[in-house]
Parts: sequence; C-alpha cells; structure tokens
Amino acid sequence: METQTCVSEQADAKAARAAIARAWRGEPLGSADAVALISCPEQELSRLLKAASRLRDRGKGRLLTYSPKVFLPVTNLCRDRCTYCTFRKEPDDPEAWTMTREEIADWSRRGRELGCREALVCLGDKPERAYPRYRQTLAELGVASTIAYVREACAIALEAGLLPHTNAGLMSRAELELLRPVNASMGLMLENISPRLRGRGQPHQWAPDKTPALRVQTIEWAGQLSVPFTTGILVGIGETLAERAESLLAIRDLHARHGHIQEVIIQNFRAKSEIAMAQALEPQPLEMARAIATARLLLGPAMNIQAPPNLSPDHLELFLAAGVNDWGGISPLTSDFVNPEAPWPHLAELRARCARAGFELRPRLPVYPEYIDPAWIDPGLTDRVRRAAAELRS
Ligand code: SF4
Repeated sequence: METQTCVSEQADAKAARAAIARAWRGEPLGSADAVALISCPEQELSRLLKAASRLRDRGKGRLLTYSPKVFLPVTNLCRDRCTYCTFRKEPDDPEAWTMTREEIADWSRRGRELGCREALVCLGDKPERAYPRYRQTLAELGVASTIAYVREACAIALEAGLLPHTNAGLMSRAELELLRPVNASMGLMLENISPRLRGRGQPHQWAPDKTPALRVQTIEWAGQLSVPFTTGILVGIGETLAERAESLLAIRDLHARHGHIQEVIIQNFRAKSEIAMAQALEPQPLEMARAIATARLLLGPAMNIQAPPNLSPDHLELFLAAGVNDWGGISPLTSDFVNPEAPWPHLAELRARCARAGFELRPRLPVYPEYIDPAWIDPGLTDRVRRAAAELRS
C-alpha cells in the first residue's frame, strides 16, 4: 500500500512539474494540466509558487493594487438560499433593508469625501420574484424592477463623483445593456462550474441563480457587450479539486472568446456560526495558494488576480508568493457586507506588509487601466473615467 501511495505521489509530482514547465513556456494548458497544478504535491509546491510569482512579475511587476470603495448594498433580500451566505435576509428580519435614494446619496458622498473612487453596488438576486412585500417596496419607490432601481443608484453614485461597479447577480442581456452606461465595470462570481453543487444537500440546492450555465451565459453576454468584467471562484464550498480547476478553465475560455475578464477573484469560504455550513472546514492556506498559483499559470501574466485580504489576514505574504497582484476593494467607510465579521485591513499596515515583501501598494479604479478605452467604456463615461485615472496618478 505504501509503495502504491509513493508511486502515485511521484506520478502527481511529475505531472505537476510538466504542467508548470508548459505554463512557463506559454504553451496551452488543458484539464489534466489544471488538475495537476491545483493538486500539486508538497514536494513540488515551491516550484509551483515560484513559477506563478515570476509570471506575475513578468506581467505586473512588483505592483499590488486595491480599489478604495464604498459598498452600496441596495437590498439584502434575495430569492436564493446559498448555505454559506450571511448577506441575505428574510423580508421580516429586522436587518432586512432596501436603501433609500437618500441613503445611497449620503453613503456615496461620505465615501467620496473619504477618498473612495468605486461604488460597489451589490445586492441579492431577483428578490421581486420571491417577495410580494418587496414588490410593494419597488412600487413605492416608483420603479418597475430592481435593475431599474440599481440604474438609479449608479446614477446617484456617479453624481457624487464615484465610478460604479455593479454586481447584481444573474442579468439578462437587456439588463446588462441598461446598466452599461452607468458602470465603469461589472461583475458576477462564477463561483464554480459544477452543476453538482446544485444537487440535494449541496450549497446551491436552493439557489436557482447559481446554475453554472446561467452564470456563464451572463458573463458571455457581458463579453458580447464589451463590459470590463470581474469574476472568480469560491474555494471550499464542497467542490472537488477537479471542479475547482475546471472553473478556472471555464473563466479562461470566456476570456479567450471576448477578452473582457479584467480580474479573477480567488475567494475562500469562511465558516460562520449563523450559516448552514457553520461546521464545514475552511480551505487551508496552502490550498488557497495552490488555487491562486493555478489561476496565475492558467490565465497568464496579464490577468489581474485578486484574493480578498480581509478573509485571510494572516496569509497575505503566502498569496503574494502565489501570484496575486490585487487586493480588491477596501473601504474606509463601510464594512464588508458579505463577510461582516472580517474587518478591512488598515491601509498603512497593508502598505507596510507589501513593502516588506518587495511590492508597492497603489490605489486603482474599479476598471483596470488596460480597459480604460472607448472600446470598453460607454461614451458617456469615458471622460469621467479618464479624469479619475489622471487624478489617481497625480
Ligand atoms: S450568496 Fe448571493 S445569491 Fe446566494 S443567498 Fe447570498 S445574496 Fe443570495
């Protein structure tokens, strides 16, 4: 038995070494390579991290970015019930809310005063399909749909000097078209490509909007409409290593078709007492490092790869070694509404830690510099985005 284990470990190590070498030479990687990388055995881990780190340096240099943002959780009602979620509330929960126009304007103004550039407009998926009481709220607000209200929220944030980035869950092509003129970029986490996670007892059993094919469709439409787009995977929700690898390949393929994926987030599941998955194991730091490094090798030196620093505050240096080049949105005003227990890092401390690891930390806009181009930004926003980019550089 021991001999068999040893033979299989040697085979895994050999497969990982071959995949790393292929990635380094810029050769296309397939499913078997992706699985070999993400399940890289301990003995080859430093080789994997070194390759990913060097590839990041080749494309991004020693620069780490973050987006100073204000969170605008327009509504925390959602028709889905993901078993790891703390964001969604039932309509009769005292913490359920839908932001008023005044709150949106006030939070936006305060965020801008504190130096924010991004308005992260974030909400539950299709609440009007589930809750008559929320349909009444929309009627009182004088709007026909949540997306129509989100468009107004974006316009209010723009008025306050922010650049919106909307993540409203699944959207139709028409909805994406409606929001494009008021968004610098948009996003939707793929989370995972496996339909198995929608099955009985799985985290997405009660989440129709987490059907992978539908999420791929939304991301595809965003590409067809030239929307700079953020997506990513959620690590540790019960997926296998192969499913994790296939999810990264699906993102790579979407980007190959449309060139619109500006950023890929590798986000770790966090267990919390109030969720159905309270007892589930969180992914280990080295598991995250393998996922980050695999993303870097599959997606190449030019891709922006992000891991949220507030979800792994003790492992930032490891993630740097695995090839990240961005820390995502960090807010001086609002908490992380999706992970409220995880405070944002202090910028000065984050800057010092990056510097100790040999990196410079710099703010960025919600749209990455390579997408600040009329081909990607609505004509009504182009000047505004260019001005903001120039201010950030000065
Ligand atoms: S994770 Fe998103 S889609 Fe799932 S229940 Fe929470 S808010 Fe809804």
